[in-house]
Amino acid sequence: MSDMATEIVGTYEGLEYDAVTENVYGKVTKPDKVAVLADVRHKLDAGLGNELMKKRRDLIDAAKDGLHKHEYSYELIIMGALFMSLGAKISDEDMQYMRQATSGITCSEGITLLDIGWRGPGQRQFLAALDHYTPGTPRNFSERSCHACGKTKVDIGRALLRCSRCSSHAPGWLCDKECQRSAWSDHKKVCGPPRDNGKFVMLNV
Ligand SMILES: [Zn+2]
Ligand SMILES: [Zn+2]
Repeated sequence: MSDMATEIVGTYEGLEYDAVTENVYGKVTKPDKVAVLADVRHKLDAGLGNELMKKRRDLIDAAKDGLHKHEYSYELIIMGALFMSLGAKISDEDMQYMRQATSGITCSEGITLLDIGWRGPGQRQFLAALDHYTPGTPRNFSERSCHACGKTKVDIGRALLRCSRCSSHAPGWLCDKECQRSAWSDHKKVCGPPRDNGKFVMLNV
Protein backbone atom coordinates (compact mmCIF):
# COMPACT_ATOMS: atom_id res chain seq x y z
CA MET A 1 0.00 0.00 0.00
CA SER A 2 1.05 3.57 -0.49
CA ASP A 3 2.38 5.50 2.49
CA MET A 4 -0.84 7.48 2.65
CA ALA A 5 -2.96 4.34 2.66
CA THR A 6 -0.78 2.84 5.38
CA GLU A 7 -1.17 6.04 7.36
CA ILE A 8 -4.95 5.95 6.95
CA VAL A 9 -5.14 2.30 7.97
CA GLY A 10 -2.86 3.00 10.95
CA THR A 11 -5.01 5.94 12.01
CA TYR A 12 -8.13 3.85 11.66
CA GLU A 13 -6.71 0.96 13.66
CA GLY A 14 -5.75 3.40 16.42
CA LEU A 15 -9.28 4.76 16.47
CA GLU A 16 -10.78 1.30 16.50
CA TYR A 17 -8.55 0.42 19.40
CA ASP A 18 -9.73 3.54 21.22
CA ALA A 19 -13.34 2.63 20.48
CA VAL A 20 -12.80 -0.80 22.01
CA THR A 21 -11.05 0.53 25.10
CA GLU A 22 -13.75 3.20 25.47
CA ASN A 23 -16.36 0.48 25.43
CA VAL A 24 -14.46 -1.43 28.07
CA TYR A 25 -13.41 1.44 30.29
CA GLY A 26 -16.34 3.75 29.86
CA LYS A 27 -17.26 6.53 27.51
CA VAL A 28 -14.47 8.98 26.79
CA THR A 29 -14.93 11.76 24.28
CA LYS A 30 -11.92 12.42 22.14
CA PRO A 31 -12.49 15.52 20.00
CA ASP A 32 -8.94 15.26 18.61
CA LYS A 33 -9.71 11.79 17.24
CA VAL A 34 -12.93 13.04 15.67
CA ALA A 35 -10.95 15.83 14.03
CA VAL A 36 -8.41 13.34 12.62
CA LEU A 37 -11.23 11.26 11.16
CA ALA A 38 -12.83 14.30 9.55
CA ASP A 39 -9.47 15.30 8.10
CA VAL A 40 -8.83 11.83 6.64
CA ARG A 41 -12.30 11.78 5.11
CA HIS A 42 -11.79 15.23 3.65
CA LYS A 43 -8.55 14.08 1.99
CA LEU A 44 -10.25 10.97 0.60
CA ASP A 45 -13.18 13.00 -0.74
CA ALA A 46 -10.82 15.51 -2.34
CA GLY A 47 -9.50 12.85 -4.73
CA LEU A 48 -7.17 10.69 -2.69
CA GLY A 49 -9.91 8.06 -2.33
CA ASN A 50 -10.33 7.67 -6.08
CA GLU A 51 -6.58 7.55 -6.52
CA LEU A 52 -6.09 4.81 -3.91
CA MET A 53 -8.95 2.77 -5.36
CA LYS A 54 -7.52 3.08 -8.86
CA LYS A 55 -4.05 1.98 -7.78
CA ARG A 56 -5.45 -1.13 -6.14
CA ARG A 57 -7.73 -1.93 -9.08
CA ASP A 58 -4.80 -1.60 -11.48
CA LEU A 59 -2.82 -4.05 -9.34
CA ILE A 60 -5.71 -6.53 -9.37
CA ASP A 61 -6.15 -6.20 -13.14
CA ALA A 62 -2.41 -6.71 -13.73
CA ALA A 63 -2.00 -9.57 -11.24
CA LYS A 64 -0.08 -12.45 -12.82
CA ASP A 65 -1.58 -15.21 -10.72
CA GLY A 66 -4.61 -16.05 -8.65
CA LEU A 67 -2.76 -15.68 -5.38
CA HIS A 68 -1.83 -12.05 -6.04
CA LYS A 69 -5.27 -11.30 -7.43
CA HIS A 70 -6.75 -12.72 -4.24
CA GLU A 71 -4.43 -10.69 -2.04
CA TYR A 72 -5.00 -7.38 -3.85
CA SER A 73 -8.74 -7.99 -4.02
CA TYR A 74 -8.87 -8.54 -0.30
CA GLU A 75 -6.88 -5.36 0.29
CA LEU A 76 -9.32 -3.46 -1.92
CA ILE A 77 -12.23 -4.77 0.14
CA ILE A 78 -10.54 -3.75 3.41
CA MET A 79 -9.87 -0.33 1.93
CA GLY A 80 -13.50 -0.06 0.81
CA ALA A 81 -14.68 -1.01 4.30
CA LEU A 82 -12.39 1.66 5.78
CA PHE A 83 -13.71 4.30 3.36
CA MET A 84 -17.30 3.36 4.17
CA SER A 85 -16.65 3.40 7.90
CA LEU A 86 -15.37 6.96 7.47
CA GLY A 87 -18.35 7.96 5.33
CA ALA A 88 -16.04 8.86 2.43
CA LYS A 89 -17.10 9.22 -1.19
CA ILE A 90 -16.74 6.11 -3.36
CA SER A 91 -17.61 6.16 -7.06
CA ASP A 92 -20.37 3.89 -8.40
CA GLU A 93 -17.75 2.23 -10.57
CA ASP A 94 -15.58 1.41 -7.56
CA MET A 95 -18.60 0.12 -5.66
CA GLN A 96 -19.41 -2.16 -8.59
CA TYR A 97 -15.80 -3.29 -8.84
CA MET A 98 -15.74 -4.18 -5.13
CA ARG A 99 -18.96 -6.13 -5.51
CA GLN A 100 -17.34 -8.26 -8.22
CA ALA A 101 -14.10 -8.57 -6.26
CA THR A 102 -15.94 -10.11 -3.27
CA SER A 103 -16.78 -13.23 -5.26
CA GLY A 104 -13.09 -13.72 -6.14
CA ILE A 105 -12.14 -14.14 -2.49
CA THR A 106 -12.17 -17.51 -0.71
CA CYS A 107 -15.16 -17.81 1.57
CA SER A 108 -15.95 -20.25 4.36
CA GLU A 109 -18.61 -20.25 7.06
CA GLY A 110 -16.45 -21.30 9.99
CA ILE A 111 -12.77 -21.54 10.83
CA THR A 112 -10.86 -23.67 8.35
CA LEU A 113 -7.37 -25.12 8.33
CA LEU A 114 -6.18 -22.62 5.74
CA ASP A 115 -8.00 -19.70 7.27
CA ILE A 116 -7.87 -17.01 4.60
CA GLY A 117 -10.43 -14.78 2.96
CA TRP A 118 -14.01 -14.27 4.04
CA ARG A 119 -16.15 -15.76 6.70
CA GLY A 120 -19.59 -16.10 5.12
CA PRO A 121 -21.31 -13.62 7.47
CA GLY A 122 -18.53 -11.09 6.86
CA GLN A 123 -18.96 -11.37 3.11
CA ARG A 124 -22.73 -10.91 3.37
CA GLN A 125 -22.21 -8.01 5.77
CA PHE A 126 -19.91 -6.33 3.24
CA LEU A 127 -22.29 -6.90 0.31
CA ALA A 128 -25.16 -5.44 2.38
CA ALA A 129 -22.92 -2.45 3.13
CA LEU A 130 -22.33 -1.95 -0.61
CA ASP A 131 -26.11 -2.07 -1.18
CA HIS A 132 -26.99 0.39 1.55
CA TYR A 133 -24.02 2.73 1.79
CA THR A 134 -24.65 6.46 1.50
CA PRO A 135 -21.50 8.57 1.19
CA GLY A 136 -21.43 11.06 4.04
CA THR A 137 -22.96 8.57 6.46
CA PRO A 138 -20.29 6.39 8.11
CA ARG A 139 -21.12 2.70 7.96
CA ASN A 140 -20.64 0.95 11.27
CA PHE A 141 -19.10 -2.48 10.64
CA SER A 142 -19.10 -3.28 14.35
CA GLU A 143 -22.86 -3.17 14.44
CA ARG A 144 -24.90 -6.38 14.59
CA SER A 145 -25.77 -7.73 11.16
CA CYS A 146 -28.06 -10.49 9.97
CA HIS A 147 -26.25 -13.81 9.64
CA ALA A 148 -28.15 -14.57 6.44
CA CYS A 149 -28.21 -11.29 4.51
CA GLY A 150 -25.76 -9.04 6.36
CA LYS A 151 -28.23 -6.20 6.86
CA THR A 152 -28.19 -4.08 10.01
CA LYS A 153 -31.09 -2.54 11.94
CA VAL A 154 -30.56 0.71 10.04
CA ASP A 155 -30.99 -1.21 6.75
CA ILE A 156 -34.19 -2.96 7.80
CA GLY A 157 -35.61 -0.17 9.98
CA ARG A 158 -35.98 -2.20 13.18
CA ALA A 159 -33.97 -4.28 15.63
CA LEU A 160 -32.58 -7.66 14.55
CA LEU A 161 -33.81 -10.84 16.22
CA ARG A 162 -31.49 -13.07 18.19
CA CYS A 163 -31.16 -16.76 17.41
CA SER A 164 -32.73 -18.28 20.52
CA ARG A 165 -30.35 -21.25 20.54
CA CYS A 166 -27.18 -19.17 20.51
CA SER A 167 -25.48 -18.16 23.72
CA SER A 168 -25.69 -14.58 24.86
CA HIS A 169 -21.91 -14.30 24.39
CA ALA A 170 -21.88 -14.99 20.67
CA PRO A 171 -25.43 -14.81 19.39
CA GLY A 172 -26.43 -15.14 15.77
CA TRP A 173 -28.57 -12.22 14.67
CA LEU A 174 -31.28 -12.44 12.03
CA CYS A 175 -33.80 -10.16 10.28
CA ASP A 176 -36.79 -12.48 10.22
CA LYS A 177 -38.04 -16.05 9.83
CA GLU A 178 -37.10 -16.11 6.16
CA CYS A 179 -33.48 -15.22 6.91
CA GLN A 180 -33.49 -17.74 9.75
CA ARG A 181 -34.55 -20.48 7.32
CA SER A 182 -32.06 -19.52 4.62
CA ALA A 183 -29.21 -19.19 7.16
CA TRP A 184 -29.86 -22.43 9.00
CA SER A 185 -27.74 -24.85 6.97
CA ASP A 186 -24.70 -22.63 7.57
CA HIS A 187 -25.68 -21.25 10.93
CA LYS A 188 -26.22 -24.68 12.52
CA LYS A 189 -22.47 -25.32 12.18
CA VAL A 190 -21.76 -22.44 14.55
CA CYS A 191 -25.05 -22.20 16.47
CA GLY A 192 -25.08 -22.76 20.22
CA PRO A 193 -22.99 -21.70 23.19
CA PRO A 194 -19.21 -21.31 22.70
CA ARG A 195 -17.51 -24.70 22.63
CA ASP A 196 -14.04 -25.85 23.57
CA ASN A 197 -13.11 -26.63 19.99
CA GLY A 198 -12.86 -22.90 19.34
CA LYS A 199 -15.73 -22.60 16.88
CA PHE A 200 -17.09 -19.10 16.84
CA VAL A 201 -18.63 -16.69 14.40
CA MET A 202 -16.73 -13.72 13.03
CA LEU A 203 -19.47 -11.36 11.99
CA ASN A 204 -17.35 -8.47 10.90
CA VAL A 205 -15.28 -7.79 7.82
ZN1 LIG B 1 -31.52 -11.00 6.96
ZN1 LIG C 1 -27.88 -19.82 16.62
